[in-house]
Amino acid sequence: MDFAAKRAHLIEILEDEIKDRCVLEVMGRIPRELFVPESFSLAAYRNEPLLIGHDQTISQPSIIALMTEALELTGNEKVLEIGTGSGYQTAILAELSKNVISTERIPALAEKARNLLKELDYHNITIHITGNRLGWEADAPYAAILVTAAAPQVPNCLIEQLAFGGKMVIPVGSRNYQQLCRITRYKHGNQLENLCSCRFVPLIGTGAWEDE
Ligand code: SAH
Repeated sequence: MDFAAKRAHLIEILEDEIKDRCVLEVMGRIPRELFVPESFSLAAYRNEPLLIGHDQTISQPSIIALMTEALELTGNEKVLEIGTGSGYQTAILAELSKNVISTERIPALAEKARNLLKELDYHNITIHITGNRLGWEADAPYAAILVTAAAPQVPNCLIEQLAFGGKMVIPVGSRNYQQLCRITRYKHGNQLENLCSCRFVPLIGTGAWEDE
C-alpha cells in the first residue's frame, strides 16, 4: 500500500484551508496509518474521524490541522494536550513545540500511544493517565493547551494552567454540536474567538457534563 501517496493527497486537500506550512509539512510526514487500528489502515488518509476503540475517535485530519494552526506554535513552547487518544495529535504537537504533556483517562489508550510514540523515537512527550482531574497542574503554566474532547464551557481549572499570553483551543457547546474556541489568557480578562463549528466526543470528569 502506497501510504506516502495517500498522505500527499490528503495534504493537498488540507492546503485549501490550512495556510501554516509547518503544520502541513509535519502532517505530510507522520504515518497516520500507525495510529489507527490495523483494520482501518486503508482509511487512515481519508479526511474523516475513525474509531480507535473504547468509544473514542482519532479526530478528522482537517480539524487536527486547524486546531494545531490556531495554537501558533513557534517551537519553544511547553504544550498541554487533554485527550491523548491515538497519540497522533500528540506527535504533531511534539514536532512543533519544545515538549508536550498529554493526559488521557483510559489507561489502555495511553499505554498504546506511549509505546507507539516511543517506537517512533519521540523524546519530548510525557503521557499521564489522569482520573477525574483535568490537566496536569504540576507542570503548569503551559504556553498552549489543546483539548481534544468537548466541554459544556471553558473549564476554569484549565485557564488557570495556561500562561499569560498563552492560547487554549477547545470545542465548547452541547454534546452533539460545538464551536471550536480559542482563548488567549491575559492578566486582565481573556480573549475568546470562535474558529468553526465541530463535533467531538465528550470530555469526561471535571469540567464535563455532569453525567459524564
Ligand atoms: N487527540 C486524540 C483524540 C482522542 S478522542 C486523537 O486524535 O487520537 C478524545 C480523548 O479524550 C479520548 O481518548 C478520551 O478518553 C479522552 N478524554 C476524555 N476526557 C478526558 C479527561 N478529562 N482527561 C483526559 N483525557 C480525556
